[in-house]
Amino acid sequence: MSDKPDIVAVMGGTFDPVHNGHLRSALELKQLLALDEVRLVPCHQTPHREQPRRSSQQRLHMLDLAVAGEAGLRIDDRELRLDQPSYSVFTLQGLRKELGNEAVLFWVMGIDAFAHFTSWYQWREILTLANLIIMTRPGFELVSESEEKRLWQERAIEVSELHMHPSGKILSISLPSQLEISATYIRQQLSRGQSVRYLLPDSVISYIGTHKLYVKAS
Ligand code: ATP
Ligand code: MG
Repeated sequence: MSDKPDIVAVMGGTFDPVHNGHLRSALELKQLLALDEVRLVPCHQTPHREQPRRSSQQRLHMLDLAVAGEAGLRIDDRELRLDQPSYSVFTLQGLRKELGNEAVLFWVMGIDAFAHFTSWYQWREILTLANLIIMTRPGFELVSESEEKRLWQERAIEVSELHMHPSGKILSISLPSQLEISATYIRQQLSRGQSVRYLLPDSVISYIGTHKLYVKAS
């Protein structure tokens, strides 16, 4: 029997810092869809937005602290090992090589991120390598004439079809617990000297405090 996982979901992000919105949604996806693994993949440099404020090693360390003792979540630092901007397509190429052609691979994103998906570098290639899981949010709709909306309609699958397609499909899902937490809000609160307790794990808060990571306005 192979020890390779059969169904893997990948959540990329800056994780500056990781918070309970990331962690809870990753765990819920794993449970709801009976995934073998959810990998959190911090990016090194990001092509789509300004650079993260904390170093790669600090963001990685916070992720390690956050998932300690949680067997369902795994940190994958492949993007941090490269001295180049992080592009999802390269990450997925690496994962596909490791997991093999049969594995069912998902790239996870919020619907707000998916709204710009066709501007991503080599987005068509991304869909030959992986499926997408799109986490819907109440009140957020795709623009009706957009290419993303068309893609979504053409490639939609149901949860019952999850095992059937290694790549190329789109599964949209509304998670039961949607935590409206953002790292931006956490950075703001910290820079104002306010408590961020209950928004992210205590172990991460303690690390942030010890190293004074977000004391300046950001
Ligand atoms: P920032 O405020 O700096 O943009 P963020 O909180 O949005 O940070 P990211 O690192 O940008 O976090 O997001 C990483 C991934 O996690 C993305 O796929 C994003 O859609 C998802 N995500 C972010 N916040 C939440 C949340 N509250 N619930 C579920 N998923 C989330
Ligand atoms: Mg964000």
